[in-house]
Amino acid sequence: MTDEPPRIGVYVCDCGFNILGVVDVPEVVRYATTLDGVVVSKEYKYMCSDPGQDLIKTDVREQRLNRVVVASCTPTLHERTFRRVVSDAGLNPFLFHMVNIREGVSWVTEDRTKATEKAKALLRAGVRRVTLQEPLEARSEPVCPNVLVIGGGIAGMHAALSLANANAGAKVHLVEREPSIGGNMARFDKTFPTLDCASCILTPKMTEVKIHPNIHLHSYAEVVSVEASCSEALCARTRERPLICSLARATSAASCPNRRMVRSRFETSSSMAAMATRAETPEDWSTRSLSRAAIEISSMRCRTAPGTTTSGPPSRSTHASCAVICAASSADGG
Ligand code: SF4
Repeated sequence: MTDEPPRIGVYVCDCGFNILGVVDVPEVVRYATTLDGVVVSKEYKYMCSDPGQDLIKTDVREQRLNRVVVASCTPTLHERTFRRVVSDAGLNPFLFHMVNIREGVSWVTEDRTKATEKAKALLRAGVRRVTLQEPLEARSEPVCPNVLVIGGGIAGMHAALSLANANAGAKVHLVEREPSIGGNMARFDKTFPTLDCASCILTPKMTEVKIHPNIHLHSYAEVVSVEASCSEALCARTRERPLICSLARATSAASCPNRRMVRSRFETSSSMAAMATRAETPEDWSTRSLSRAAIEISSMRCRTAPGTTTSGPPSRSTHASCAVICAASSADGG
């Protein structure tokens, strides 16, 4: 089909007076007949209507057209419509091009002469382009539907929830570098401009993210690389810091690679006496301007690894939404 000389049909739409009221459509139609490869050029009032579609189909069959250009509205609106028309007429749907002379010309150009010249220029480019187009075949490929969302602030949480609710079969991986999701909004009392309570907006989303079956939360983790795999899916590597501190294993400051592991505020067992040196780590809620003990209890984590020993008063260690986090230890340091 591509070896044949181009036989192009050009169809210019009036869209009532949307286009005709500004663009000299008969002049554009006449101009189209002067372009290389154009064998048919027609004007119609509503090209997307059934009679308009039938006009194209009839010409493709009777005039043996092998390419079609429609000058009308934005392709977002009707490109699929006209591809289907061309396909129904027996042509490859990709031997079609749509020229936007409504949103791109008549709606944004007041001067009739300039609008007509612009429409002619766009049409000339469209005809030239369709001449070079080749038939394509649509095909389906399996894709990985999982999604990575980076950042667990209010925007990241909202995105993760929207994606998880919209795409039932997909997993949403939400990566947050801090121990807790919530971001900067968690530090505010009220939100501008309505002065709504920040926590009232934030905390329901935090809870929803935590319990959503399609969201996998990677808190205290960072994305270190994103690569394309052989299956053309994107693979993200994350570095996840430990969320659980086994105080039974961490019996001295030497067990922590950065030598900052120390006595916890909540430690009660005698083995903790070995950790006599107090360690400090930046405190998140003061945007790291202050420091805190290297072991903390986060209110947003609820994991306790099997076999690990949690420290602290029993009322805290058994609380459903608490877990001991070691902010200064490494994965193998306990
Ligand atoms: S094809 Fe587009 S420009 Fe033409 S009548 Fe339909 S909506 Fe209007």
